[in-house]
Amino acid sequence: MTDQKYSELAIEKIAKTKINDVDFDNINFGRKFTDHMFYCDFIDGAWQQPKIVPYQPMTLEPSARALHYGQAVFEGMKAYKDDNGNAFLFRPEDNHRRINISAARLAMPEFPKEYFMEGLTTLMKMDKDWIKPGVGNSLYVRPFMFAIDPAIAAAPSEAYRFMIICSPAKAYYTSKIRVLFSEKYSRSADGGVGYAKAAGNYAAQFYPTGLAQKRGYQQIIWTDAKTHEFLEEAGTMNIFFRVNDTLLTAPISDRILDGITRKSVIQLAEDSNIPVEVRRVTVSEIKEAATNGSLKEIFGAGTAAVISPISAFEHGGEVFEIPDTENSYALRLKKQLLDIQHNLSEDKHGWRYEV
Ligand code: PMP
Repeated sequence: MTDQKYSELAIEKIAKTKINDVDFDNINFGRKFTDHMFYCDFIDGAWQQPKIVPYQPMTLEPSARALHYGQAVFEGMKAYKDDNGNAFLFRPEDNHRRINISAARLAMPEFPKEYFMEGLTTLMKMDKDWIKPGVGNSLYVRPFMFAIDPAIAAAPSEAYRFMIICSPAKAYYTSKIRVLFSEKYSRSADGGVGYAKAAGNYAAQFYPTGLAQKRGYQQIIWTDAKTHEFLEEAGTMNIFFRVNDTLLTAPISDRILDGITRKSVIQLAEDSNIPVEVRRVTVSEIKEAATNGSLKEIFGAGTAAVISPISAFEHGGEVFEIPDTENSYALRLKKQLLDIQHNLSEDKHGWRYEV
């Protein structure tokens, strides 16, 4: 895409904002959308003029390939506002890099960084009032790309649409969650698409997660498909185990998403001299640690909930409760991350991106 000529971003503003129809104190995650959306089509081998227009339904051919073959990828990121009204994204260039990694795996074209950053920051400025100040409030930003070519042939599409939509959010999973270590189902396999944010990865989790939920577990912790012995990640979060004072987390692989929260947590832990081991973590060692009392914490790390502490897990029909611990790493790291995101503390790694 090096010889792409960049066209100017076209902007059409909404006639009247919808913001007054939204009850920001009672937000249901992902149900309300801001005034504007960004889109850009890939046609005849080139990205066309990028546009910001009022958020609205769109037409799609019933034969659009995304609907048949799941050629669709997405991202999730958040914008935050400080008490002075300044708005920030968190490591947005990493989301751009990652959506292109996902796109490559699904045989889709790369989306140019110039378009991504300009579209994103302009949209943030236009819908800035939707980003509410205060820790816990944020604007969830959803970039995504899907195949629009009208052809039901099982081959890569020739046309794509790249979009960004935004939805106001409060932190979810406010209380601790209970999880099931997977013994039967898998979310990804060696050589597969686990490392990509491919839409189908999420659809495939709904059924097993639904079964777990019926048994009182909010989430599944996925294990490797081959042996179900290695603990990998949750449905939308990477996962950390604290054994005594050491944090353990699985290495990134072709089965695991390279989470931006995960790598930020590893960095913050190292900054505060918490020992971190990035290595394969086994179900048996965690059960053993839970039994002998050395398992102090398990928590998930991801954009949506930032850090999500886990109070219990089930494996092999046995339930292991994790008692509350003093000096929780989960709470400390969550506060550190939220403080950086909301411009309440120094940002020594340059993760905040003012818009
Ligand atoms: N794993 C999976 C499968 C996810 O969907 C997500 C959410 N993007 C994460 C981990 C966490 O990644 P991040 O911290 O970048 O949100």
